[in-house]
Amino acid sequence: MYQHRTRCGDPINLPVGKVVCIGQNYQDHIAEMKNQVAKEAMYFMKPPMALCAIEQPIAIPTQHGAVHHEIELAVLLQQPLKNASVEQVQYAIWGYSLALDLTLRDVQQRLKQLGRPWDMAKGFDGACPVGPFLPQAQMKHPQQLDFSLSVNGVIRQSGTTATMIRGIQQMISEMSQWFTLQPGDIVLTGTPAGVGPLLPGDELRLQLGDALNLKTTVVAA
Ligand code: ZN
Repeated sequence: MYQHRTRCGDPINLPVGKVVCIGQNYQDHIAEMKNQVAKEAMYFMKPPMALCAIEQPIAIPTQHGAVHHEIELAVLLQQPLKNASVEQVQYAIWGYSLALDLTLRDVQQRLKQLGRPWDMAKGFDGACPVGPFLPQAQMKHPQQLDFSLSVNGVIRQSGTTATMIRGIQQMISEMSQWFTLQPGDIVLTGTPAGVGPLLPGDELRLQLGDALNLKTTVVAA
């Protein structure tokens, strides 16, 4: 079973909750998807069973078309938040990591065309591999972090949290107006350009500044 953990592998004493995500939070990713910039942010959720430890082989479904990687800064919460101010958000953050917002892209396109919700494309079991968390105190400038994903030695995505359209605290404050956030919930903060398909056998490396350097592989579920 998935459990939040530190870089040393120690379990973090928080329950495993839902994952709340923002869509379209980096301009270059909006452009590559040929989406329009909307004034209102788009938030969606993944259920707790989507979570898995990223260092284990990532098991992707192979019967539903392309599974895309979206590397994102992940935020672990330790306090409940409802209609929270930006200040309240700051104290509610336990720490940071990297996650993959795995997306069944062909399914998502089909659902979009039909005007249906995305849950099947974004919320399937294992759709959110996440790394170990670093305490907030060790991350002085979370809004100035470089991060990248390479697949088989080639960088696919690289970005900096400085170019988020909505900053971390603002987005979590807004999310809490729609969904009560609870201790152990995780927030995914959006992906930069370069999303693309994963295949069984791929070797991944995820880097967050000089704080995290994670290696994992992809297998067929
Ligand atoms: Zn995403």
